[in-house]
Amino acid sequence: MAKAQVFVQTCDDFRIQKPLQNYFENSLNLYAVDLKTDLGGVKEIFEGTPKRDWIFENIQASIDKHGIEKVILINHTDCEAYEKFQTPEEEIHTHEIQLRHAVSDVHAKFPSLQVEAYLIVLAHLDEPTTIHKVI
Ligand SMILES: [Zn+2]
Repeated sequence: MAKAQVFVQTCDDFRIQKPLQNYFENSLNLYAVDLKTDLGGVKEIFEGTPKRDWIFENIQASIDKHGIEKVILINHTDCEAYEKFQTPEEEIHTHEIQLRHAVSDVHAKFPSLQVEAYLIVLAHLDEPTTIHKVI
């Protein structure tokens, strides 16, 4: 079996791809990633839509086919799937809450998997793009 290190669920926004790839390799030492992207990242998991079941099927396939033992969920700021927020603080807080809920949902469905969540804060004004661990 070709073994992957992790299954990643994130948004399909083009702006996050390069920062994410660099972060995987340079900060997390991840080179074998089963990557799934959907607009809004974990929004479908958080809202419990039928797409959540499809994401879960993809996780199951990565377990069966690539032996993954870990899932990473990633959202980002300035995401087209979300309404505009009043303040950057509100935006980050909302994403962090949804990521924590999504981690619980994935963990409830796959108790044996390790589940983590990260938030990408895209470059804004003079601030560079940053990525931090939420849970
Ligand atoms: Zn997005």
